[in-house]
Amino acid sequence: MSIPRLQNFINGEPMANTTGETIAVTNPATGKVIYEIEIADDSVKQAAIESATAGFKQWSAMTAMDRSRILLRAVALLREKNDELAMYEVLDTGKPMQEANCVDVVTGADAIEFFANLAPTQVGQQQDLGGDFYYTRKEPLGICAGIGAWNYPIQIACWKSAPALAAGNAMIFKPSEETPRGAVELAKVFIEAGVPAGVFNVVLGEGDVGQWLTGHPAIEKVSFTGEVGTGKKVMASAASNLKDVTMELGGKSPLIVFEDADISQAVAAAMLGNFYTQGEVCTNCTRVFVHESVYDAFISELKQRTENNIKAGDPQDLEVNFGALISKQHQQLVLDYIAKGKAEGATVLTGGNKMSVPGADGGYFVEPTVFTDCHDDMTIVREEIFGPVMSVLTFKDEEEVIARANNTPLGLAAGIMTQNVRRAHRVIHQLEAGICWVNSWGASPAEMPVGGYKLSGIGRENGIEALNQYTQTKSVYMGMVDLDSPF
Ligand code: NDP
Repeated sequence: MSIPRLQNFINGEPMANTTGETIAVTNPATGKVIYEIEIADDSVKQAAIESATAGFKQWSAMTAMDRSRILLRAVALLREKNDELAMYEVLDTGKPMQEANCVDVVTGADAIEFFANLAPTQVGQQQDLGGDFYYTRKEPLGICAGIGAWNYPIQIACWKSAPALAAGNAMIFKPSEETPRGAVELAKVFIEAGVPAGVFNVVLGEGDVGQWLTGHPAIEKVSFTGEVGTGKKVMASAASNLKDVTMELGGKSPLIVFEDADISQAVAAAMLGNFYTQGEVCTNCTRVFVHESVYDAFISELKQRTENNIKAGDPQDLEVNFGALISKQHQQLVLDYIAKGKAEGATVLTGGNKMSVPGADGGYFVEPTVFTDCHDDMTIVREEIFGPVMSVLTFKDEEEVIARANNTPLGLAAGIMTQNVRRAHRVIHQLEAGICWVNSWGASPAEMPVGGYKLSGIGRENGIEALNQYTQTKSVYMGMVDLDSPF
């Protein structure tokens, strides 16, 4: 039986490459190849630039109201196709359907809806200068590149294209080669909704295709989601023609459980922030600081709920709430971190092993793992693992825990659990992180700007300010009287 092929999506339709080069895509829950993608070669790349150039011309000439109406049709289509698109995400990523069918497409559609509604509210300013005056226009940037990670493929493609398209830009998007389907499905939805051909193109391939985009002189901005190391390369390459950048990078985020916290809620936050999407979430609270006076109660409930409430299995089964890691290689990386945790003296409270899962034989599963007796200098406490591995640490007082929570070059997210409202504000204002939660974890509505401090990123996605990052201000000075010139 021949393997299905996914082609690059250029100028409103699939486009074949000429080299015939492909990459296989594997279902992480079975280890089996499900389809292959055609790698964007020179002919595809050139067509992508030409198509985006033409698409930009047409799209940017439309009124914001017209663009908004079309994007809202895309939102309706995404919601109509929710279960079908969610299934593609499950097959590509290995995440449970019970997550994908209510988060991945939904939050992607929400972002497009938010920015589509915001687009017509963009206005310039006018100021009188005593006869002469000036006014400003908010103009789109041109062709923007989006480069996505593999954990939330369609959501990332939506979050990047939503403000870009709403502001009148065109986009060339490169998904991770491990999870490429979502972006192509989104491209089809945009066409079906009436977005002109060429406004949203998808190029397929590995890092070198991303690198080509980041260095291309026709691209005005790069919005990147991925690892810190790759982000640095992307920024260096984008500097070639001073491209604007948005960087959504990794994290090693703290959750602080104070002595007055609701312990069951704190356990819920810690589990959500370590085991949702089998731990493959950038904002995960992989460092859980628990006040020593509530440590025993916290640990006992955490162990009991981790061992009893997590159900690994075929991610398509709606009862399953814990899926497979993205690849065999990533599974090994996570297992290597677990081995380092043990070797450096941390205690495994629960989990710690590879998992074989009935109904998902051949899948890349790792047990939900909790380490106790952790210290701040251990590898598992310092480095991003991007898997279901929680490190629990204890603390005595507020000042100490704030300093320890901030003692990392990363600053994506942070959270605290407390009933004391003054402490909540006091502590959260001192944490060096761009996304903070109080008595909550993980929610990221389209209205709320998200992004990292320190090495975790530059710029913001979602929220009103993200739209501004896809426009540039043109100032127009109007001379109303004759020029007074000495020449
Ligand atoms: P990578 O950095 O490995 O890859 C991200 C994307 O960049 C992929 O599409 C990749 O292609 C591409 N790429 C690789 N090399 C280059 C290059 N030199 N130039 C341009 N593009 C390149 O990240 P992962 O896919 O492994 O994703 C996991 C990481 O993403 C974690 O660190 C996680 O924290 C972070 N992340 C951050 C989020 C945030 O919002 N802050 C959200 C989600 C994830 P390919 O993979 O096809 O080789």
